[in-house]
Amino acid sequence: MPELPEIQAHAERLTTEYGGRTLATFRPIAFTALKTFSPTPDAAYGQALAGVGRRGKYLLADFGTVTFVVHLMQGGRLKPDEKQSAKPRGGLARWVFADGSALLLTEAGTEKRAGVWVREGDLESQEPIEGLGPDADTIDAATLQAICTAHSMRLHGLLRDQRALAGIGRRLANETCHRAKLSPFANASKLDADQVARLAEAIHACIDESLAYERSRDDMSSSKERPGAVHHRAGEECPVCGDVVREVEYTRYTVNYCATCQTGGKVLADNTTSKFLK
Ligand SMILES: [Zn+2]
Repeated sequence: MPELPEIQAHAERLTTEYGGRTLATFRPIAFTALKTFSPTPDAAYGQALAGVGRRGKYLLADFGTVTFVVHLMQGGRLKPDEKQSAKPRGGLARWVFADGSALLLTEAGTEKRAGVWVREGDLESQEPIEGLGPDADTIDAATLQAICTAHSMRLHGLLRDQRALAGIGRRLANETCHRAKLSPFANASKLDADQVARLAEAIHACIDESLAYERSRDDMSSSKERPGAVHHRAGEECPVCGDVVREVEYTRYTVNYCATCQTGGKVLADNTTSKFLK
């Protein structure tokens, strides 16, 4: 799933390419794509796109009167739509501009969970932005300390919790724990000040590295192309110490880590669920 750096660079490219264009129409193609009833999308017709911003993993297409909030989920993309065919493959919604150009929201796969919310006024007090934690690229060590102290849970889970900290997903959680030399299973509320300071540094370094890579491209990277040391690299050598990268597998994600760098050599198993498995 695209995370903060990929969404941020995507927003910047969309602003460069579509900023200033006047909206003619918006049409949901899949009926589940539009998540809101009021205000209606036509509140933006005749309005120029002021820019595309980002909050957490959401794109914010600001037309002044209303903002289209877009979540790409796993396989969603928002891209130029030259054909504007009646039934585009994977198509969920389309924005057509007065100059004839168009943007299409598509989603690969069958889940179709990407969505669009039309909002006016303060986004922070309305779904789906309401309740998000601070953006991960804005936090300092003191803020992060407060977040960690308040959450007695595994660090990897906390990093992925959008209500605690917004913008980090499975890949950046793995990479951040590795860079900070912290166990993904460490209890976040028990981290000391040095560990939290390392974690804050690691969050910024991982985001900066991914954002620099993403900004060097013309389109969004695939997950395999993104820079990293451990994510989806089980069995490979840790680039820091040469130990083998290990994994703990869950249904929806995999925790990757280096035992030498992060757990004092201890190999992790999922004690929470393993007792229920035969
Ligand atoms: Zn290592």
